[in-house]
Amino acid sequence: MSLSLTRSSTHAHGPYEMVQEQIERAAEHLGIPRNAVEIMKRPKRALIVHFPVKMDDGTIRVFEGYRVQHNDAIGPTKGGIRFHPGVTLDEVKALSMWMTFKCGVAGLPYGGAKGGVVVDPHSLSEGELERLSRGYMEAVAQVVGPDKDIPAPDVYTNPQVMGWMMDTFSRLHGTFTPGVITGKPVVIGGSLGRSDATGRGCVTAIAEAAKDIGLQLQGASAAVQGFGNAGRTAAELLADLGCKVVAVSDSKGALYDPSGLDLPRVIKAKEAGNLLDYGPQRIDSSELLELDVDILIPAALEGVITGANAPRIKARIVAEAANGPTTPEADQILYDNGIMVIPDILANSGGVTVSYFEWVQNLTNDYWSEDEVNRRLHRAMVKAYRQVRQTADRHQVDLRTAAFMIAMQRVYEAMKARGWV
Ligand code: NAD
Repeated sequence: MSLSLTRSSTHAHGPYEMVQEQIERAAEHLGIPRNAVEIMKRPKRALIVHFPVKMDDGTIRVFEGYRVQHNDAIGPTKGGIRFHPGVTLDEVKALSMWMTFKCGVAGLPYGGAKGGVVVDPHSLSEGELERLSRGYMEAVAQVVGPDKDIPAPDVYTNPQVMGWMMDTFSRLHGTFTPGVITGKPVVIGGSLGRSDATGRGCVTAIAEAAKDIGLQLQGASAAVQGFGNAGRTAAELLADLGCKVVAVSDSKGALYDPSGLDLPRVIKAKEAGNLLDYGPQRIDSSELLELDVDILIPAALEGVITGANAPRIKARIVAEAANGPTTPEADQILYDNGIMVIPDILANSGGVTVSYFEWVQNLTNDYWSEDEVNRRLHRAMVKAYRQVRQTADRHQVDLRTAAFMIAMQRVYEAMKARGWV
């Protein structure tokens, strides 16, 4: 699927409208006051920044970036930073809102935020990327901080970018401040287990869901859209559990082998520069979502499962490693067709859960082993999944509505306790 296809499919129903509709759906089943729902439907603060970056050829380019903080009733806000040419303020607003509800489902002491810069990072040199990362952090430094708002990685940002940003913030304040950002390299306060956390948490949720519907993971088939941080780890861990990963894709295209892809070879091709160099086993990217597989993991961008393609989706479980991949219209179709959708705010909450562990380790200077991190992550994911499942069964709603209900109730109680509503 091309980027333009992805964008045009979200245009009719943009991510901001999507999350507002999801809030309304959950509100129908909750007895919370209307004014509390109205507060949750909009972000509290949205900062637009323009900052200059010196390019290698000596010219100056001015970039546009955003930092949006949705709701800080429960605690400081938290959420990743995306570098992508298609980033918009509305998208970042929506992502900040999903973060609030994700932290709510996971029971973390945070509200939600998100950041983004309109840039194609692949067109930059390493030096330009570093100056862009530092320039963005300098531009938003007044609104972030370990007790205010804590960024993290998202699409096309990584531990190195987090390291540069932490360094810039620390220099501005004259104090080593690792707790300002998570997803850092381990040597400067990153947590062991953070880089795998989103995919690992997603696979834990899939394993719980599989038990519920009587699906044996051993021998089950899976397709993964997006072979980055979240998608690649999920694919590898599913393979470790005996699943056959038959298809994966990235922005360049999709691979498909019904007898199972050789993942180490796929990774080698991707790391060498092009996933498609794996071999001739290719399909059109849009076909990946519609393959006859047991498990489908959208792990790229928003709005890819729509009213148009949802009727053709055959997977038994759709686990949303990406944020916002399914439109509300598609949600209804999948529900009616008996397909279990593990919603983003649950399925990918492993990332922010381990980001929270990283922040706790930074604030206490007490660092944990990878086993300890993974054990705690597993416990947190199983607990969150079970709570969502129970709420869904009790109210006869889909898992997304149940997850929103749990999170919105919590945010409401925090706002009430603070006297906001
Ligand atoms: P990433 O940059 O590591 O990987 C993104 C991948 O998606 C890349 O392989 C890219 O080539 C691919 N991609 C881009 N456009 C595509 C398209 N049109 N079709 C198929 N593939 C495409 O990003 P990530 O951190 O893995 O994030 C992926 C999703 O997971 C995003 O929705 C993000 O918000 C969500 N997420 C990430 C984290 C995290 O900790 N990194 C946590 C929670 C949610």
